Amino acid sequence: ERQLYEAIKELPAETTDGHCVHLMANMAVPEESDALIESGVEGIGLFRSEFLFMDRSTLPDEAEQFAAYKHVAAAFGDKPVIIRTLDVGGDKHLPALALPQEENPFLGFRAMRISLARPELFLVQLRALLRASAFGRLLIMFPMISHMEQLREAKRLLEQAKAELRAEGIAFDENIAVGMMMEIPGACLQADVFAKEVDFFSIGTNDLVQYTLAVDRMNANIAELYSYYHPAVLRLISQVIEASHRAGIWTGLCGEMAGDPLATKLLLGLGLDEFSGAASVMPKVKERIRSTSLEEAKRLAEHVLTLSTVDEVVQYLKDRAL
Ligand code: PEP
Ligand code: MG
Repeated sequence: ERQLYEAIKELPAETTDGHCVHLMANMAVPEESDALIESGVEGIGLFRSEFLFMDRSTLPDEAEQFAAYKHVAAAFGDKPVIIRTLDVGGDKHLPALALPQEENPFLGFRAMRISLARPELFLVQLRALLRASAFGRLLIMFPMISHMEQLREAKRLLEQAKAELRAEGIAFDENIAVGMMMEIPGACLQADVFAKEVDFFSIGTNDLVQYTLAVDRMNANIAELYSYYHPAVLRLISQVIEASHRAGIWTGLCGEMAGDPLATKLLLGLGLDEFSGAASVMPKVKERIRSTSLEEAKRLAEHVLTLSTVDEVVQYLKDRAL
């Protein structure tokens, strides 16, 4: 197996009928850069910026954030690196922000909701990201968008950060792409509307499952109910991808599902453009992509969308796996 993965390392993630998708890696700390480049992935599909903010009592200033983002951007050269703005709250606590205790933290003050409530902090991150964009190919991604106003306000603040840097004569990528996570069902149902105002989507199945099925992603008592093979989740994924293509933008997926080889053909058949998971599992995903045709994957996805239960979906996929 290892030999096979080594043999296809430099080959594209291309189906037998010539359809190419992009395989990227998720990254948590900048120190991983070298190992990830070595693994043969095409870039970073999700860089969780939280790492910079956790386990400390003060917030990182612009210089520190800039240095970290620049390190990653430069390490990847012309390969794309998607950096997600701060996603804390929920299960992730930040001593420096003194977040309130909440009854329902996953439904509460989290991610973009915090960034937009504290624009002076958000602007520091946006300026650092923009400055780093001069040293590689960065894309910016906003987490946990549920309302169009949030996206517009985040983009307005990004424009403000750009204007500040211009006035200060500091270089940045004027055409930096801006995307959003699709991890809240409401946003997925409005994907056609959001698609007109971003450059790309990235589906976050870890949260999308939790919010679609009302199943806490951390609660062991109900873990049995938590599955990205639930037909409702699959419908949302399908709708998001289709809406993005109608609007001429692309869709990636950066939840655990992207690295599950059992899901590869299905996601391919649903039209997914980019898969981002742990670097260690992506060779297996590539092998799956290279061993099927897009036509076959589409037929499989079409049939899966007619199934009624998680078990039916999983069984069908297993029966058709190698
Ligand atoms: C997700 O929700 O699927 C995701 C990729 O983000 P996180 O796991 O960081 O919430
Ligand atoms: Mg998420």
